[in-house]
Amino acid sequence: MDFELSTEQAMFREVVRRFVDEQIRPVAREWEHAGRYPAEIIEAMKDLGFFGITVPEAFGGMGADTVSMALLFEEISRGWMGIAGTIGSHSLSCRMIAEHGTTDQKDRWLPALATGQVRTGIALTEPDAGSDLQGIKTRAVRQGDHYLVHGTKTWITNARHAGMLPVLVKTDPEVVPAHRGMSVLLVEADTDGFSVGRDLGKLGYRGTESCEVFLDGCRVPAANLLGDEEGVGLKQVLSGLETGRVNVAARSVGIAQEALDQALAYAKGRQAFGRPIAEFQAIQLKLADMATEVQAARLLTYYAASRIDAGGRADREAGMAKLYASEAALRASLESMRIHGGYGYSTELDIERLYRDAPLMAIGEGTNDIQKLVIARSLLAED
Ligand SMILES: Cc1cc2nc3c(=O)[nH]c(=O)nc-3n(C[C@H](O)[C@H](O)[C@H](O)COP(=O)(O)OP(=O)(O)OC[C@H]3O[C@@H](n4cnc5c(N)ncnc54)[C@H](O)[C@@H]3O)c2cc1C
Repeated sequence: MDFELSTEQAMFREVVRRFVDEQIRPVAREWEHAGRYPAEIIEAMKDLGFFGITVPEAFGGMGADTVSMALLFEEISRGWMGIAGTIGSHSLSCRMIAEHGTTDQKDRWLPALATGQVRTGIALTEPDAGSDLQGIKTRAVRQGDHYLVHGTKTWITNARHAGMLPVLVKTDPEVVPAHRGMSVLLVEADTDGFSVGRDLGKLGYRGTESCEVFLDGCRVPAANLLGDEEGVGLKQVLSGLETGRVNVAARSVGIAQEALDQALAYAKGRQAFGRPIAEFQAIQLKLADMATEVQAARLLTYYAASRIDAGGRADREAGMAKLYASEAALRASLESMRIHGGYGYSTELDIERLYRDAPLMAIGEGTNDIQKLVIARSLLAED
């Protein structure tokens, strides 16, 4: 087995790391506390081609492998996880369209999505259905060459800046099992009846907006039905979520690594009882546990990414990576805070942001209890 990154992957990581050091780290604390939209960072990421990380080269994207995608999200999250959100659901939807879109849909959307000229996200969750996506109520009724859509989505990241949003709908609410009546519509933001509500207040994950989305008699052209096939929407979404889980696992590795790096630096410099606190065994045990968990999380994440690159589905591997890495990020941010003592609680250091950003990793792209169900299902399905 080869545990090394390829030369190209290592070089790409260096490019991202430099970008994060030069353009994200210097402003992250101030902008995050101010609730400022990181417009300049987003423009720079467009120039670097990051919005096209999952778009095939034939459509103007990077066509990068999934390990490189993981590196991108890990490195950005070391600097500020919220920034990763601006390209997170965007990348998931790009991959979903590249995999399942018709030739016309790919030609129409992918080149503009690759440059970030058009931005996107994904609209699945509703006020009364998150984990249970088959319980959504958003309804799309075919009327000639259009669908008439009614429904409400919530917690939709990037909604305000999306030029087009893939929306999970029910095209047949009667069929059993329910997923056979579910479809994805690519809804353009200027469609009559489409509107974005307020930005939802949140603990962390600032720098990207999460909003309610209303579809109120929204007339969506039938040509915007993803893949031109009704009843396969949940399947299309779940294949996208697999990559999304690697993405969240990678963000978790970034948070955990940053928490460890800051704890190490602080422990070497902080004196108590006449010596650096790094000399106390209680601190060393924490550092050793954190470093071991970061390494395990990283290996699980790169492995899941490499399984996706090898072809076929990798639900179990992606689920394990997301589950373990997000819990590792939660623990690392708390342990780093403990090592920092009172300063860890201060808004003048970054630890409190890592601590506020980590919990979302255990919720997004399927809660961790849902990951356990995915993993168990795959175990039980084995011969
Ligand atoms: C900041 C933020 C950004 C988000 N961005 C997006 C986005 O861009 N697009 C989008 O569509 N959604 C987005 N979401 C929504 C997110 O995906 C959901 O919150 C998540 O999937 C959980 O759904 P829920 O909140 O409805 O919780 P629920 O499904 O109501 O779950 C509540 C609890 O019950 C547990 N539970 C549910 N079912 C089971 C079961 N069968 N067995 C065991 N336990 C179970 C869950 O694990 C959880 O602990 C975002 C959420 C947040 C907070």
